[in-house]
Amino acid sequence: MTGPDAPQRTEDVLPARVRNTVHSAPREYSLCRALDIEARGALRPRDIYLVLTESGFRPDDPRLQPTLDALGACDRDARLTYEEFADLIRPNILLVERALQGRLVIPDFETFRDEVTEMYESSQENRAGKVADYIPQLARIEPNQSALAMCTVDGQRLSLGSHGRSFSIQSVCKTINYCLALEQHGADRVHDHVGREPSGRGFNELTLNQEGRPHNPMINAGAIMTMSLVHPELDISDRFQKVMDTWMDLAGGEPPSFNNAVYLSERQTADRNFALAYFMREQGGFPSGTDLQQTLEFYFQCCSLEMSAEQMAVVASTLANGGVCPASGERIFSAHTVQNCLSLMNSCGMYDFSGEWAFSVGLPAKSGVGGAIMVVVPNVLGLCCWSPRLDSQGNSVFGVDFCKRLVGRYNFHHYDNLTGLSTKTDPRIPSVQVEAERVDGIVWAASKGDVGAIQKQLVRGVDPNVQDYDGRTALHLAAAEGQLEAVEFLLEAGARPNPRDRWGVTPLGEALANGHERVAAQLKERGGICPTTNARRRSPTQASDALPSSDASTSTIEMIYSASRGDLRSIRRLMARHVPLDQADYDRRTPLHLAASEGHAKVVQFLLQQGVPAHPEDRWGATPLDDAIREGHGPVRDVLLCAAPHRSEPGQANGSDAI
Ligand code: GLU
Repeated sequence: MTGPDAPQRTEDVLPARVRNTVHSAPREYSLCRALDIEARGALRPRDIYLVLTESGFRPDDPRLQPTLDALGACDRDARLTYEEFADLIRPNILLVERALQGRLVIPDFETFRDEVTEMYESSQENRAGKVADYIPQLARIEPNQSALAMCTVDGQRLSLGSHGRSFSIQSVCKTINYCLALEQHGADRVHDHVGREPSGRGFNELTLNQEGRPHNPMINAGAIMTMSLVHPELDISDRFQKVMDTWMDLAGGEPPSFNNAVYLSERQTADRNFALAYFMREQGGFPSGTDLQQTLEFYFQCCSLEMSAEQMAVVASTLANGGVCPASGERIFSAHTVQNCLSLMNSCGMYDFSGEWAFSVGLPAKSGVGGAIMVVVPNVLGLCCWSPRLDSQGNSVFGVDFCKRLVGRYNFHHYDNLTGLSTKTDPRIPSVQVEAERVDGIVWAASKGDVGAIQKQLVRGVDPNVQDYDGRTALHLAAAEGQLEAVEFLLEAGARPNPRDRWGVTPLGEALANGHERVAAQLKERGGICPTTNARRRSPTQASDALPSSDASTSTIEMIYSASRGDLRSIRRLMARHVPLDQADYDRRTPLHLAASEGHAKVVQFLLQQGVPAHPEDRWGATPLDDAIREGHGPVRDVLLCAAPHRSEPGQANGSDAI
């Protein structure tokens, strides 16, 4: 094929020197293409930098230093060739590739950041509760402070409020002490000394289980017992150093600090903790040779460690990542140790609110009277909320409020995923993909007359009336393709008979225009109407000629959705994954059609620069130019007219002249 509509190999629009990269390094080439907005064969360092920081990476991320340093050394206005860029990212190629392709655990980090910020703002207005006053040093803290920090298992970071301010970790230390004991002795030996049932009582209650052992390692009695198992063979200073070093490793190399005033204050007011320890000794609970005084002091010292929300979020992300720190890539704890710890955080980590928390929030967490809550979303992220105002159970008011909002919005609760029908957002999946999957499955199946597949979609909770970017429904496609059984099934399943697509056409209109008499009769019987017998002048062509394979179709639909939203970032992510820019859907609509219909001149420009054909025809023979004119998008029309001469007179294939 020749002429303006001849499909052009996309690399043909680039300078000759760039084409070498296509063959020598095809993966790098795709990344370059996605970054090269103007298709000039040259990349701006700041565009690359921006993509990385928008993905959630911090400029000081140690893993990315080779690439970030090299970018920093470039001239502000420099242009890098594809080869230079490929060399520059080589030490970090996998991470950079995943960022550009939107394959990090939170692919659309910008949107996530905005949504989390909004939740944070609302939660921090909650000024209920009061600061813990039973340890005098804690009572002195300014109550109206808050911080939130997150770190994903891919090392994407988000920090809000007083995120760099250090606070007393208090009971949060119980988690790591328990992990240390597990690593050294194994679960059986540890649980000879401490149970794993929620106590249903206050955190410092003078009570033991039926075997005379503390209920679990997350309450004071159990934590003191666990402490006796943390490297008892070492000198006390080495034991403490071991704990400090572990926190530092978990936090990716940033050491915690120690607040001596809190420690002294804690020790002076520790009658209850002493009582618990003596009570347990009387019951024969401690390992032989335990020095009680030293064990208690060791416990107070651990409670008096300080760290910031940012640091604690990285610690939490190490637990979320099965014991491997996302910031350093080092394994700190075995996956088994982490699994045990998360199990107990889940059932016992929130004082006497633990059952309610497991029910309503459904995430492993540990709270401390210093106002911190360390929360783990397994395989996704770790987070830390901090604010000193506590509720009557001893949990941070802000932290509980925020976590409830978080789980109300995202499907992070343990059991959200089991149903597959959650109406919550899954931030692990880009929203265009969610839309594309929702629409593509049922519309595609309807166009093929695959009733079994339609049924499957409906059972999964897909709405039979779902409309695509052109307002097309499964019923439109089934009617257009004469799929009588699918039409009957959809109507039975609750599909409305008269949805209008972008051109005001109903399923009955489709059936009539395509000569499907039996489908038309069925639709009329169910109340189908046809306000415009055929809103499009050209006769329909065989849609099946243009149907992509089912594998390609969801990403094709994703690409078209991205274009219809004017979402260049998402288009570039899909490009980096080798999704073609010019593929058509079940109506032969392409990204260019949709960008033109919705008036996204920038996207139209971008697509043309990337070499997509300027005047593809949809099912009805209409081109993007027809779309732009029909919808009144002057700037888009001008861009398209500039790009290449049009074969037909503008307006010929639009719906303005409905019969
Ligand atoms: N150091 C505190 C105590 O043992 C810890 C309390 C807590 O954070 O739960 O009383």
